[in-house]
Amino acid sequence: MNILRGVLVGALALACFGQTPPKKGNSKVTHQPFGKLPDGSAIELYTVSNAKGMQATIMTYGAAVVSLTAPDKAGKYADVVQGMDSVDGYVKGVPYFGAIVGRYGNRIGHAQFTLGGQTYHTPKNDGDNTLHGGNRGFDKHVWTARDLADGVEFTYVSKDGEEGFPGTLTSKVTYHVTPNNELRIEYNATTDKPTVVNLTNHSYFNLAGQGEGDILQHQVTLFADRFTPVDKGLIPTGELKPVKGTPFDFTKATAIGARIGQNDEQLVFGKGYDHNWVLNGSGLKKAAEVYEPKSGRVMEVLTEEPGLQFYTGNFLDGTIKGKGGKVYGHRAAFCMETQHYPDSPNKPSFPTTELKPGQTYKTVTVYRFSAR
Ligand code: BGC
Repeated sequence: MNILRGVLVGALALACFGQTPPKKGNSKVTHQPFGKLPDGSAIELYTVSNAKGMQATIMTYGAAVVSLTAPDKAGKYADVVQGMDSVDGYVKGVPYFGAIVGRYGNRIGHAQFTLGGQTYHTPKNDGDNTLHGGNRGFDKHVWTARDLADGVEFTYVSKDGEEGFPGTLTSKVTYHVTPNNELRIEYNATTDKPTVVNLTNHSYFNLAGQGEGDILQHQVTLFADRFTPVDKGLIPTGELKPVKGTPFDFTKATAIGARIGQNDEQLVFGKGYDHNWVLNGSGLKKAAEVYEPKSGRVMEVLTEEPGLQFYTGNFLDGTIKGKGGKVYGHRAAFCMETQHYPDSPNKPSFPTTELKPGQTYKTVTVYRFSAR
């Protein structure tokens, strides 16, 4: 049965993405308990690993990546994402560590949008705006997990009207660890009424190892000639601004810390980098590459999405003690959230985030790890 399932999944992946599916027998999946929510629901951890030793551990709460290992230049694997030692830590409140963010990742201006002539109101959980799906976004729900031969599929059904959004939305997110040391995330969603969808993963990376100081020496390349400048509430103005001549130009590898302190209005609004870059190209394309000089670790980000929110942990302030007692200080990690642009529901000139009944939202993002 499992073999049949594996063959089917592999063939489907091949048909859908035109790529070689992960080799059978390469990766394996194990589970273990991770504690209980206050309402008694049991939360499980699913670990997917490949033959090289790379491991991704994902929990059913928020379908969040809890740990992710990657090799350094000596071949030593270390955990490169922030997280908590038990589900309690997440329930007490963390800023979306590793989670799947939805139904609408990032911001919706003035917490409202109009669809089919009707105005919908979503929670104001970030000043006047909606952030990451509202008060109780997809990161704060239990997802149903299903083992695939070479990965795990998480499903969450969001009710019509949940957090103000129209339509019952069924989201499926699949995590694979490929033989090539990639964490491959496939997103899929369908609805029974017109709605808006923008799903992403909110992992906080530090390629020196989680909790190992700040990320200012990491060198970042973004394959984007433009970004979406914002107002002081971090809502895009609508302009697609060339990065050339600004501290937002990462077209050549540049240390995160090189210009982050400049007196630039956009950096002031973001308290550092907290912006959406307009990715060059289309299809599954390279969006970013990050290099950490001490460990030699490299992370490449590939995505089918048109945008990337590059956030430099500006709101981390050392009040959260995470895995292994590590303290997550200011800029202890960065996020690379592949996405449609913030506030797209109110910006007709941006690529649409509308999903209609009968359509399938389908998108792929890959985080690939190596060292040099
Ligand atoms: C947002 C930040 C926010 C962070 C954590 C990012 O996607 O753009 O403004 O602070 O998520 O909530």
